[in-house]
Amino acid sequence: MRVRFAPSPTGQLHVGNARTALFNWLLARGSGGTFVLRIEDTDVARSTRESEAAIIEDLEWLGLTWDEGVERGGDRGPYRQSERLHIYRAHAVELLSRGLAYRCFCPPEQLEMDRYHALKDRRPPKYIGRCREISPEDARRRAESGEPAAIRFRIPDNRDVTFNDLVRGEVTFNTDVLGDPVIVRSEGVPAYNYAVVIDDALMEITHVVRGEDHISNTPRQILLYEAFGWKPPTFAHVSMVLGPDHSLLSKRHGATSVAEFRARGYLPEALTNYLALIGWSPGEGQEIVPIDELARRFRLEDVGHSAGVFDVEKLGWVNRHYVKHATPDRLLELALPHLRRAGYAEAPTPEAVSYLATVIPLVTASVDRLDQIPARLGFLFDYSAERALSDSAVRAEAQASRPVISALAEVLASGEPLHDRDAFRTAVARVRERTGAKGKTLLHPIRLALMGEPEGLELDLAVPAITRGAALGAAGIRPISSPAERAAALDRVLGALASDEAVPSPE
Ligand code: GLU
Repeated sequence: MRVRFAPSPTGQLHVGNARTALFNWLLARGSGGTFVLRIEDTDVARSTRESEAAIIEDLEWLGLTWDEGVERGGDRGPYRQSERLHIYRAHAVELLSRGLAYRCFCPPEQLEMDRYHALKDRRPPKYIGRCREISPEDARRRAESGEPAAIRFRIPDNRDVTFNDLVRGEVTFNTDVLGDPVIVRSEGVPAYNYAVVIDDALMEITHVVRGEDHISNTPRQILLYEAFGWKPPTFAHVSMVLGPDHSLLSKRHGATSVAEFRARGYLPEALTNYLALIGWSPGEGQEIVPIDELARRFRLEDVGHSAGVFDVEKLGWVNRHYVKHATPDRLLELALPHLRRAGYAEAPTPEAVSYLATVIPLVTASVDRLDQIPARLGFLFDYSAERALSDSAVRAEAQASRPVISALAEVLASGEPLHDRDAFRTAVARVRERTGAKGKTLLHPIRLALMGEPEGLELDLAVPAITRGAALGAAGIRPISSPAERAAALDRVLGALASDEAVPSPE
């Protein structure tokens, strides 16, 4: 089995296309076949090398490695269409000489008028065949005298073209709706429907797996295979990926490109696992299935033909699974760029990196994506006594608990640093002895004072992390204030609030 992914480098890799690449990869890996990467860059105006590089980077990040193609080489190259123009030209000349293609001299304005009239009369807007009957000698003479000429493929009249699509079953198109397509434009650039056939045939592709948006191109392509006497590959058109409102997944639904999902902190194995679940099921009620196992189970015949909706919640669920199972070292490496971007860890020293390696796992169980990690670590890097009191209900509760907070500030000012759970519990016991508070009335204000937020990570885990972070000093990370400093700061703010209330302002 030889399959290929043939992106046009005109932008970022869309997750729908990534799914097509994944399906091809799964087929190749599951069957011991070959996966080819070909770059379809004949749309000169829109194709860029930057986009090609970005697509390659995304495929590599996803782990969808190819055996043959750009950057890898192989026996059937070149694998970039812009480097194959001589091949397309030679094959077009062959079709011309056999009378299966002809030169078309219709200027673009004429074609535009034809189209306009066809639409007005409710006829299919296909080429009306004006240049079909120009004799080959006349046509050659005109072309040689410099008149611009495209090359059109002669589509046989009124014939049914049928193919057996592995996903959609038997599909038939009548040639009367097709019109003779341009295969080489007057500037010498090949059209997609033509180049794709030459390439798939010469690269000996056995299965063409691509988006359903190409299904109506397939009959033209099959007729071209026939014209050259080549056996067409097996086709499989996989459904498109839709947004929650059932229109094609696009920018207005949020992230659509692999690069955006990567930036948000989805792991590559989560994205590939999730993409495989759109329109297909690995079976046995399982959804979390690693990519190699997916390859063993994947069969095109089991891919559903109705469109699949991209479900961000489900992707989040799959991602959480892989984040939970990632090694601490890998999580650290993946989380660091997010911490850097948040301004929490611009240039951490080795000591600070070891510290971060211990605190990141404290919060990963509660995130769907790695870009949520900085906010979860806000209790370390972004403590503010003022902000802790910004909610009026929280403020009222804290004001009522001022004695607990003052006692905490005193206990911490003189006591040992809260390096571990036991030290923290000893300090809490002292505050209880001094104030008589217990349960929530004891722990709520302590949490607010030390973490600056009424909810979140368990104090037993958070407080030692704060203490160790504070001991680091600057260390290339944003400085972390100590528990003692925090309790004192909150006590001070509460004191200021109390005196403001005692002395009403003049107005
Ligand atoms: N370059 C085409 C695309 O990106 C490839 C279509 C195909 O796989 O034949 O849509």
